[in-house]
Amino acid sequence: MAEGKTGAGDWYARLIIDISHESLDRTFTYRIPEALRPECAVGSVVEIPFGKGNRVINGYCVEITDKPEYDPDKIKEILSVKKCGARPEEELIRLAAWMRNEYGATMIQALKTVLPVKKTVRQTEIRQLVSRMSEEELVAYKAVCERKKYKAKLRVVEALLEDPVIPWDILTHKLGVSAQTIAAMEKDGAAEVTREKTWRDPVHVAAERDAHPVFTQEQEAALGELARLHALGKPYVALVHGVTGSGKTEIYMERVAKTIEEGKQAILLIPEISLTYQTVMRFYRRFGDRVSIMHSRLSEGERYDQFERAKTGDCSIMIGPRSALFTPFPKLGLIVIDEEHENAYQSESVPHYHARETAIARARMCGADVILGSATPSLEAYSRALKGEYVLLEMKKRAREKSTLPSVTIVDLREELAAGNRSIFSRLLQEKIRDRLEKKEQVMLFLNRRAYANFVSCRSCGKTMKCPHCEVALKYHMDGVLRCHYCGFEQRMVKCCPQCSSPYIAPFGTGTQKVEEMAKDMFPSARILRMDADTTKEKDGHEKILTAFAAGDADILIGTQMIVKGHDFPNVTLMGALAADLSLNSQDFRGGERTFQLLTQAAGRAGRDKRPGEVVIQSYEPGHYSILDAAAQDYGAFYEKEMSFRDMLHYPPVYSLLTAQFSSEEEANAEDAAALFAAAARKKFPQMEIIGPAQAPIGKLNDAYRKRVYAKSKNHEELLALKEVWEEMEEPEKKRRVNIQYTME
Ligand code: ADP
Ligand code: ZN
Ligand code: ZN
Repeated sequence: MAEGKTGAGDWYARLIIDISHESLDRTFTYRIPEALRPECAVGSVVEIPFGKGNRVINGYCVEITDKPEYDPDKIKEILSVKKCGARPEEELIRLAAWMRNEYGATMIQALKTVLPVKKTVRQTEIRQLVSRMSEEELVAYKAVCERKKYKAKLRVVEALLEDPVIPWDILTHKLGVSAQTIAAMEKDGAAEVTREKTWRDPVHVAAERDAHPVFTQEQEAALGELARLHALGKPYVALVHGVTGSGKTEIYMERVAKTIEEGKQAILLIPEISLTYQTVMRFYRRFGDRVSIMHSRLSEGERYDQFERAKTGDCSIMIGPRSALFTPFPKLGLIVIDEEHENAYQSESVPHYHARETAIARARMCGADVILGSATPSLEAYSRALKGEYVLLEMKKRAREKSTLPSVTIVDLREELAAGNRSIFSRLLQEKIRDRLEKKEQVMLFLNRRAYANFVSCRSCGKTMKCPHCEVALKYHMDGVLRCHYCGFEQRMVKCCPQCSSPYIAPFGTGTQKVEEMAKDMFPSARILRMDADTTKEKDGHEKILTAFAAGDADILIGTQMIVKGHDFPNVTLMGALAADLSLNSQDFRGGERTFQLLTQAAGRAGRDKRPGEVVIQSYEPGHYSILDAAAQDYGAFYEKEMSFRDMLHYPPVYSLLTAQFSSEEEANAEDAAALFAAAARKKFPQMEIIGPAQAPIGKLNDAYRKRVYAKSKNHEELLALKEVWEEMEEPEKKRRVNIQYTME
């Protein structure tokens, strides 16, 4: 390297030369020649001399810095910046840089989040079941299955009648059909399993796709507005606020269809595949093999395969959980986020990104539109829509004829107790359940108090059985085991109190198992199904239960919040929320919002068809606005009250909130680090509101003690600046084994 070219003022690029997880950890530093500076940015593909022989290869720029890691004289120069047009990798690397900056992480952590793992790709076989009967033959075959009560076959035949080709994973995962059943159907000549090396020609099935219905007025208006905005050529972010059943999914499908017509691709994010099975099937029916599904349980290799298909144009629609956002489509035109308010969109691992914000960031980079949809939008989204940052589209009526919103009654559980009713079912709810059982209609009962369930405490001294590794109560399970729901620790149920030896130690409170027992006692003739973390542990547990309930195999479905999301059961005419309570959530400022969302959604489950639905909400706090406004289905009223609460206590979305969490097996180290960080923040940003050091809501997890510092400000940029100050302070803390993580809300 010639002298005089190096020294202060020089800029360097950190490059990765291969996009695969193993090599992401290894970056190479190259100098950016003066002339190339304007062109070279994060995400750029550059040509570099590599290795001893200076072989010319391509590299991806992941970071630009003025601090070379080693002797500048030994650093080689970039030869040229490639102008190859936008590649998906470029966009994703830029997105990783944005995430790193916004949420706090190393560039490597951010890159590993957005780039798929490269493994040796084995060409996998694509299996599907193809109908070998005409429609009439299938109908006749269906009648036989019905008569002989072949339930599994019946499910397959019904699916085949809707679509003559069923992908293998839908067949086994969603319809829960065994290999024997499929073999038997092949023997009957009803269908045949095909194995191919390539994906089926999309046109081949596209002919019989579902068409859209005649749109309602509200749908017309919303679609008209979206088409108008799109035609302006300025990418939009739209929030579709529509009551459950108002036809939001039809709107998504219509915009997706338009996107594909333009030769672009679309991503649909859903909170969790297994809970949104019906939505996924509607996309399949309409778009056939243009659709690819990304399960959260895919192996890394399978995920990579999916991404390869997307890159090569083998599919144009990716449906999946938040990580589907990183699908490397070459021309991404639309991102839809269904149930935008769901918690599942916030990542639990570093970087703690939020899919909504990250989707908008990615859409900005490639000029894509974004549609957010919800019946109960997050305060974040709704407040931005009101400010005009997003386009707001309201849909107030249900799309299907004669389908009306249900009527809601609130029952005060304190009055029940005063009247001597000690059961979990209020008198009104009992009466209504009996009525439905008589009419052969279905009932859903939902328990939204997780912490309410089965913890074990001593009636003599009050000791609660806690996990030795986590600061949380152990839960009692029917198999006689006490289990920690955070780390999986298990021990046998104790016979007497470990603190005072009293024998009066017992499970306390009501979990779904207990509710099921009580329901069986009270309604002995009813067929009851239960859906919770225990009954859905095995693979596809969700779908099996939901399919059975949809098929009418049970009269009552009891479950946790997972039963209120997204399902469409026309025969359900009564929904009971057993204990709509807030007090246990009060540590979290979003408790009220969550209660409102859950109850509103629960109410939306009843009466989706022609028969009117009824909802009974039981609560110990029947006067709270979250419950009253949910009962009245009045989002606007709730929004006003909740926003003034957030404003008063300086919470998001009125204020931005940066949380730093310090965890360590040495409690003193975590505490000390938190104190140092809090002090530095107070000194550098004296006007900012700094809270802590404080105990994290779960003070100990997996043997690590957890402390927090919170910073609140209306100025988001200022919080980003504080995060940078903190990041500079991390090194010595890491040395004494304190792990630091940030969350930006
Ligand atoms: P959302 O996503 O808002 O809950 P969906 O799109 O799922 O609403 O629609 C609810 C139900 O109404 C679905 O069964 C759907 O097929 C039906 N539906 C939607 N739009 C129409 C329409 N324009 N005409 C008739 N039925 C419709
Ligand atoms: Zn005791
Ligand atoms: Zn534990």
